[in-house]
Amino acid sequence: MCGIIGYIGKRNTKEILVNGLKKLEYRGYDSAGIALKNEQELQIIKSLGKITDLEEKIFREETIDCQLGIGHTRWATHGEPSEVNAHPQKSGKITLVHNGIIENASLLKKELEEEGVVFKSSTDTEVIAALINKYYTHNMVEAIQKAIVKLKGSYALAIINDDDADKLYAVRCESPLILGVSDGEYFVTSDIGAIIDQTRKYVLLGENEIITLTKDGFTIIKDGKKVERSIEVSNLSLENASLCGYEHYMIKEIMEEPMLVDNLIQKYKNNMDLLPDLNQYDTIHIVGCGSAYYAGMIGKNFFEEDGKIVEIDVASEYRYRNIIYHDNTLVVLISQSGETADTIAAMRKAIKNKVDTLAIVNVDGSTIARECKYKILIEAGREVAVATTKAFILQVLVLSFLSYKINPVKGYLEELKRLPQNLKILLDKSGFYKKLADAIYQHEDVFFIGRRVDYAISLEGSLKLKEVSYIHSEAYQAGELKHGTISLIQEGTIVFGIVTDEMTKDKTISNLEEVISRGAIPIYVGTEECSYENKIIVPKINTKLQPILVVPVLQMIAYYVAYKRGCDIDKPKNLAKSVTVE
Ligand code: GLU
Repeated sequence: MCGIIGYIGKRNTKEILVNGLKKLEYRGYDSAGIALKNEQELQIIKSLGKITDLEEKIFREETIDCQLGIGHTRWATHGEPSEVNAHPQKSGKITLVHNGIIENASLLKKELEEEGVVFKSSTDTEVIAALINKYYTHNMVEAIQKAIVKLKGSYALAIINDDDADKLYAVRCESPLILGVSDGEYFVTSDIGAIIDQTRKYVLLGENEIITLTKDGFTIIKDGKKVERSIEVSNLSLENASLCGYEHYMIKEIMEEPMLVDNLIQKYKNNMDLLPDLNQYDTIHIVGCGSAYYAGMIGKNFFEEDGKIVEIDVASEYRYRNIIYHDNTLVVLISQSGETADTIAAMRKAIKNKVDTLAIVNVDGSTIARECKYKILIEAGREVAVATTKAFILQVLVLSFLSYKINPVKGYLEELKRLPQNLKILLDKSGFYKKLADAIYQHEDVFFIGRRVDYAISLEGSLKLKEVSYIHSEAYQAGELKHGTISLIQEGTIVFGIVTDEMTKDKTISNLEEVISRGAIPIYVGTEECSYENKIIVPKINTKLQPILVVPVLQMIAYYVAYKRGCDIDKPKNLAKSVTVE
């Protein structure tokens, strides 16, 4: 997503900022901008679209010579993507760039407006600038301290002040930000990959520590007291630079989901004609392995609601089953790599039986992409972590598009537009998922229960957890639990209840109560408020999109549980990314 680069030192700053912003491009953004500051002037240049557009603008305009500046790639959460809303945002003497979301921005904005502040943008970011400006008399650290006390949400900020041509300030909470250290120059960035070609020395910043940088050094103040932090040396290889500041690909790839979902929505929302029309088929077979199969389970729920006859199989079973094909059957093959051996065999069986095939794959040119009659690329980019995250979400999104095409329900397209933003807001709560993971990581048995689509979601949540954390985990149809498995519920067993399906939500809650009576600790994941202590409330959205707002939460929990257990998250034991053997 969005990124930050800030610089103070001895070199001309604009090249350094543009170079850093280019390294942050992979995260996805809708606009970008820089602020340059010298003794006389502050210059802000912003642009919608690509960094190259910004670069052109910067080199077209006459820019000031300076050794201090900040830059940003924005992925809009508050206010549409536009030049006015792009960062840096300025209010009074304060100019800053921001990653994250201020949850109480509208309240703060109202208060500031009542005090006479006029806002130019619709961003939550300008509110932070206005707040610091309000508290600034002569001491910036004090002003920042007063402002952050008022903020609820996540932020990484790089800040400059009209009065200071030789100081750069930074502070973070929940969103990442590090300090890069070089000879007579310093950087702040959300992503070490953005500065690794400049310096390998860095300082990790704790939450709400206020950093003041000059070209001669830095100080860190937390709650009015000086904090000492050691300088670390990154051994990030250029290969690992593609981790871009994240510790693992799994978390990096989860964090890419809002941007990738948005890209695919932009491609198809006004061009559903690009997708095959499944109305011409009465029967749909869905085939996949592992998570791709579970994405298919979610698709089955969509298509059945649309009035289709749907069969679903894991590919290794499908290839050996005695299947009676009807003429107007479509076989949907789901595979990230497009090279999954069993799925290829299933595809060839369908082709041999002269029915149509549709590939939902990530890798263009792969066997499945080449040999199916239709293909839809999920456009996830390279997925490095063995346990799939972003590819799964995009597979479900494609199935959702297909379902909408069969049955264009009202309100879908509107909700589709809001989906990436909702997803980003959910993923931004990493502190919350970490806390939940703390409560889970020492357990050895976890259950996930749900009905209908919530059962399919449970399957993927459970698979993700066991794949990466090696905790034994089972997903059960909530109604089936008492037909045997409930005997495994003991005092303290963790049971996730997935409760988004309108038709069955009350039933699932009753099933959750049954396990609670037998000592289970429930974790409720649903769309409506509840009285359970451990709960994750996800925004309610069109049923054809709802799983896309639930599975990422379960991916985050799986990640943080595996992290706490010290697992090799990106390469879980015994697993391979692309299973090309039967
Ligand atoms: N919430 C801010 C905005 O909408 C920052 C978004 C970002 O992290 O890029 O401008």
